[in-house]
Amino acid sequence: MKRIILFSCLCIALATVSAQDSTLARVFIKNLASKEFHGRGGAFNGDSIAASYIAEKLSLFGAKPLADDYLQHYSFRTFKMEGDFSISLAGKVLEPGVDFSVHAMSKDFHGKVDILYFDAEKITDPDAVQQFCDKNRKKLSKSFLCIDKGNEKDLSKKALRTINQLKRENIFGVAGYLIGVESISAMSIPANAQQLDHSLFFVRSEMLAKQPKTAEIKYDSKLVIHRTQNVVAYVPGTERPDSMIVFMAHYDHVGQVGTVVYPGAHDNASGTAAVMDMARHFAHHPAKYTTVFLFFSGEESGLMGSKYFSEHPLIDLYNVKMMVNIDLFCGGDDGIIVFNAEADDTKALFEKMKQVNEKHGYVKDIEPRKNSANSDHYYFVERGCPAIFILTKGGAYGGYHSPTDTCEGCAINKYNDVWNLIMETLGL
Ligand SMILES: [Zn+2]
Repeated sequence: MKRIILFSCLCIALATVSAQDSTLARVFIKNLASKEFHGRGGAFNGDSIAASYIAEKLSLFGAKPLADDYLQHYSFRTFKMEGDFSISLAGKVLEPGVDFSVHAMSKDFHGKVDILYFDAEKITDPDAVQQFCDKNRKKLSKSFLCIDKGNEKDLSKKALRTINQLKRENIFGVAGYLIGVESISAMSIPANAQQLDHSLFFVRSEMLAKQPKTAEIKYDSKLVIHRTQNVVAYVPGTERPDSMIVFMAHYDHVGQVGTVVYPGAHDNASGTAAVMDMARHFAHHPAKYTTVFLFFSGEESGLMGSKYFSEHPLIDLYNVKMMVNIDLFCGGDDGIIVFNAEADDTKALFEKMKQVNEKHGYVKDIEPRKNSANSDHYYFVERGCPAIFILTKGGAYGGYHSPTDTCEGCAINKYNDVWNLIMETLGL
């Protein structure tokens, strides 16, 4: 009798066990965020390494390819920084990615240079700038100019704006700039941008406190046409194969600058892992609708992959019932944000999501937001497709576009809850 009770308990438990596999998702995140994937950007073709990995898993699960080898190829122009990336100030070697970073469009530089200093607040005073330039006329073109923003709160908005302008315009006519910052901020590498004719590095203010007089800088950057690919798969529906539910996530991240890898565990190995897990689940348990799984590259360079797919769709966009974009899927202790939640073709779904959550209490809060060009759903919304973008809020993750966004820093304790919320809302 005891045995029978135990057996039936087990059956009930199995029947209610969710279809997702958070342990497997954790393995995917760990692999995608590992050094071997070079931050999944253009550098060392890290994105292509990640694409092969995802395609291999999709094939293993039995999801069908939407293109040859699951890959939709395209290209864009971008910067690769696969060589030197070092700065020492008066002989002190700085730690790349922690003590300094570079503006993605910076010109490369190799050599020893003198450093000149200019007061950040005075940058708004044309006379002060002129006097400085007159005084240092002979040195300017061969020197780096240091402008320390320090704690930005102490600076006027006008001064900050003018310092920002140095990212486009070489106001002082120097070889390069060292911009002092309180901490190193997020790194992004744009597509289809031009290289500057001057160098521009960000250095932690603390490193500049003693006003070192010389710097030794080694930095390589190349503007290249980068060949990349989206990874695309589907599972035919059992009852209404013409209707499609599309899950998407960008698998690319910032990549690598010199030896500094941007692991991008939260952004967006986490969302990629979730969509891979969804492909696994639906390959084994097909839904009544066709489920489509799109993994985009080039998102961090300006939504390049999803824009390309929306212009060269491998599915009939007219038959899309709903698109769900997942980008930033770690944490989630404070709930989720849903972008494009209250459009004519998504508001009913959003209402249902709130009801499902009220019933089961999966997440703490569901916050609606307007559509925004902040992730891959955007170009599909522009083309008239019903699409939402879900990201988690609160909880642990390592950082944003930073070398600290590691798998170890990435909590997925809300993974099952958010998965259940999405699937029940979609009726899957
Ligand atoms: Zn992202």
